[in-house]
Amino acid sequence: MQTIFKAEIHKNLINNEWVESQSKETIESINPANKEEVVGFVQNSTKEDLNRAVEAANQAKKMWRKLGQAARGQLLFKAANILEENLDDVAETMTREMGKTLPEAKGETARGVAILRYYASEGMRKEGDVIPSSDKDALMFTKRVPLGVVGVITPWNFPVAIPIWKIAPALVYGNTIILKPATEAAVTAAKVVECFVKAGFPEGVLNFITGSGSVIGQGLIEHPLLNAITFTGSEGVGKNVAKVAADRGIKFQLEMGGKNPVIVSKDANLDMAVEAVLSGGFRSTGQKCTASSRVIVEEAVYDEFKEKLIHEAKKITVGNGLQAGIWMGPCASESQFKTVQYYIEKGKEEGASLVLGGEVLKGDEYDNGFYVSPAIFENVKSHMAIAQEEIFGPVIALIKAASFEEAIEIANDTKYGLSASIFTSNIQSLLRFVDDIEAGLVRINAESAGVELQAPFGGMKASSTGSREQGEAAKEFFTAIKTVFIKG
Ligand code: NDP
Repeated sequence: MQTIFKAEIHKNLINNEWVESQSKETIESINPANKEEVVGFVQNSTKEDLNRAVEAANQAKKMWRKLGQAARGQLLFKAANILEENLDDVAETMTREMGKTLPEAKGETARGVAILRYYASEGMRKEGDVIPSSDKDALMFTKRVPLGVVGVITPWNFPVAIPIWKIAPALVYGNTIILKPATEAAVTAAKVVECFVKAGFPEGVLNFITGSGSVIGQGLIEHPLLNAITFTGSEGVGKNVAKVAADRGIKFQLEMGGKNPVIVSKDANLDMAVEAVLSGGFRSTGQKCTASSRVIVEEAVYDEFKEKLIHEAKKITVGNGLQAGIWMGPCASESQFKTVQYYIEKGKEEGASLVLGGEVLKGDEYDNGFYVSPAIFENVKSHMAIAQEEIFGPVIALIKAASFEEAIEIANDTKYGLSASIFTSNIQSLLRFVDDIEAGLVRINAESAGVELQAPFGGMKASSTGSREQGEAAKEFFTAIKTVFIKG
């Protein structure tokens, strides 16, 4: 039984006050599983609203820095508890707003709680190192200090986990922030921010502003009071963020797209590989930056693997992610829905063979949502668009490789380098893979789309600017180092 859902108007958060935009306009958020349902409304903010948010963060930065890391950590513990109490509501909102299934949404929200607790504990960890000086009468040490005002721009595909894995370290290390979430999932983000407000963060420390990427996102990175920007999203937008930030001389961090390969070697456990490829390729409707989109299979096991994969993929149930028993939800928006259809056609035109799915689903509830069936192509060549461009949908490209060496070459034949996995029982192959694969996340006998919050996360090549998020690595971006020398 679904709960009765009431669409609410969510406001911007500036200086701990929920305020309307000066535009007096709102943007509606639609349920991709049922276009007739409005999930909520967010503010269509103006540059003036943005100015107020950045000024609030700037005003608060000295007080927040001086509060100290331990006290800041305590507030994150409170936010974690409040998010945990609201887990069901936040997860249901996420499913309604961007379509992932309720169990996935609950898992992501629980992950958000764990990330908050991890960084809350950072409040009690070291802020620097003592380094021996060549002068025996001197004390030399480093001290980590905040950057100041940090802009946080996030995508819609992980509307709880990604904002939190940026906000939590930014705050505990003493920065004040302005969060601009993806418009597509801004209602969910607003509910996360409500948990921070209830936790009692002081005025101006966390500001939240919604509106279009071209006005609010662009305005944020160009704002003269901004000291740093952390961005996750598409490569196209990310490149522009990098240009503006580099031009202004502010610190920036970008995590962007992927075209993640999975190699299935001739000595792989094929059942294990099939399960991981289906999960990595189709969970969240393929809308993960770490999704498995190219599956490179050694010739010797190609036919057997393909048959097993298709057999299991046929069992996938597609529908409204709020319903029990649904394995894959709709595409998150009409534009994603159209993009997937574009690439299905493109794959066929380029000569790949669609061996499963890829159809727009019709009839009953399907007519009201953005549903496609999970698609598997074969006869895919590495130069084809479906093997090179990020689709961000439930489309797997099967590529045959004559040998293990060729499989690695194909795996690296893309501009992206986020995540990569291999299925093999051969120690030589896996060690070679670890060495030769061009990816920030290297996974052996595990799906490409797995992340642990205590470990560094990020890509190589066009997937990233090379800095890492999560775990201890987050400290590198969100702090600057002072080297202190004291002569006795
Ligand atoms: P977009 O790049 O379209 O948007 C990301 C964010 O940038 C949104 O908040 C968007 O606002 C904002 N934005 C848009 N235009 C500008 C601009 N000119 N200046 C500043 N900000 C702007 O990405 P999506 O939201 O569609 O997310 C999907 C992408 O994110 C995929 O490429 C995926 O691979 C990537 N991603 C990467 C991850 C990683 O860690 N590597 C993790 C998750 C996703 P608005 O919504 O209002 O347009």
